[in-house]
Order: sequence, then C-alpha cells, then structure tokens
Amino acid sequence: MERLKNKTAIITGGAGGIGKAAAILFANEGANVMLVDLNEEDLQKAVEEIGTPNIKYVVADVSKNDEVVNFVKKTKESFGEIDVFFNNAGIEGKVKPITEYPLDVFQKVMDVNVKGVWLGLKHVIPAMRNNGSIIITSSVAGMQGTANVSPYVASKHAIVGIMRCAALECAPRNIRVNTINPSPVDNRMMRSLEEGFDPKNKEEAKKQFEKMIPLGRYAKSEEIARVALFLASDESNFVTGAVLPVDGGMTA
Ligand code: NAD
Repeated sequence: MERLKNKTAIITGGAGGIGKAAAILFANEGANVMLVDLNEEDLQKAVEEIGTPNIKYVVADVSKNDEVVNFVKKTKESFGEIDVFFNNAGIEGKVKPITEYPLDVFQKVMDVNVKGVWLGLKHVIPAMRNNGSIIITSSVAGMQGTANVSPYVASKHAIVGIMRCAALECAPRNIRVNTINPSPVDNRMMRSLEEGFDPKNKEEAKKQFEKMIPLGRYAKSEEIARVALFLASDESNFVTGAVLPVDGGMTA
C-alpha cells in the first residue's frame, strides 16, 4: 500500500522504539522519511535496518533551537516541503516523589518533552505543505496522574494543551494536529521506568503496570506506530485537536 506516497515525514526520537517502528511503516507506505535523534550511531543503525532508499537522518537535540532549525533545513534540502511531522522524542526522567525530585531533572524533562515539542512546531509548521498532519506523542500520563513521575506527567499534559493551540492555529491551512496517548509500551523507556519503580524487582513492577491495563499487557511499539500512521494518512482527514488514547483500555 502507498498511503503516504509523495509525502515527506519527519520523525523525532526516530531511533527509539516508537519512532523507528513508525519509520518502518511510513517508509513502506511510500513516504520520504527524515529521522531525528541524538546519537549518530543509533540513527545509522536504524536507517540500515529499515533499508529503503527513501530514508535519511539528522542528528539533533530537539530542545535546542538551532538544531531544530537545522533539521528542518536538512529535510527541505533532501526532500522538499514537509507533509507529516511525528513530534515524538521524549524522556522519562526519574522516579521520585515531588519532595525528593531533583530540580535539574525536572528542568531536563521540561526542556525535551515540552520545549522540544513546541520548538518542533515553531519551525516545522512554516516548512509544511497545506493539508499536512502533525502527531505529538503524549501518553496516558497526559490524561491522568501517576505518583513519583510528576515532571513526566506535567510535560505530557502540557503538550496536550500545546496540541490544542496548534490544531486551532493550523486549521486554516488544513494541517491537522493530534496527540497519541500510549499506555506502557514494551521498549527501553518502560525497562527504565520499571527499574525506577522497583529497582529490586523489575518483573514485579511490570506486573503491576500490566494489572492497570484492561487488555492485560503492554503495547508493542508497532501498535502505537500504526495509529500514528492512521493520523499521518488521509484516512484521518477530519480528525484534528484530538487526544487519542492507544492504551488497551487503561484510561477507560
Ligand atoms: P525510546 O526511549 O525508545 O525513544 C525515545 C527517543 O527519543 C530515543 O531514541 C531518544 O534518544 C530520543 N530523544 C530523547 N531526547 C531527545 C532529544 N533531546 N532530542 C532528540 N531526540 C531525543 O522510547 P519510546 O517509547 O519510543 O518514546 C517515544 C515517545 O513515546 C516519547 O515521547 C515517550 O514519552 C512516549 N511514550 C512512551 C511510552 C512507553 O511506554 N515507552 C508510553 C507513552 C508515551
């Protein structure tokens, strides 16, 4: 199928679990894909693994203005104007109560998860063709609280607000903006959080998370990526300003 034929997509966090899974789907649906992430080796590996000719990468920290400007410039030079922006990079921070949470980690989570998402919008929107789609990766943590990850929860709520503003601002150009809100996904970020929640018994931490999910298991990265593909494609033409849980019923 070629649901993204003749389209150009940027994916931030493109070397990570969800980002790479989306890159595989987007590239196979005919899009030109620019991966953005922090580490060149990881990006190279992702591009090799995906193995289609229509995929490139730029090293950039999404929380740094100049680096965001640069990844937009590089994408335009390589592929022309942008149709799809999967604004997805994020970090989990630490697992600590508010009273013990390190201020520098709070700041870092806000820088990447909020400022990074906002800077992406600031610089990608002017480089987009009309009728495009922006997908922002929030979380179930953008819809409800969880003890001991307050900066992450705050950041994921914040970007729902940013999404709503962007959806209104972009509507005159028929650029749609939505969040996807995954429950725990079976990849690196959850391994880190399981360790944070129960350093002595990570398996038990995983079981506790699974108990909160009516479908009884974590999502696979690809299951989240498939919803991003739906929002990226014309099949979701009338969906904008939406908060879309992909959570096995966790927020039901
Ligand atoms: P991941 O850790 O595998 O991927 C995140 C990617 O973002 C990594 O490749 C990382 O290097 C990159 N990144 C981090 N900081 C960056 C920066 N400053 N600039 C550029 N890139 C940066 O985890 P993932 O699950 O693929 O995460 C993708 C998104 O999904 C994140 O926003 C995360 O918060 C969100 N999310 C994840 C889960 C989960 O359980 N894994 C659940 C809900 C939401």
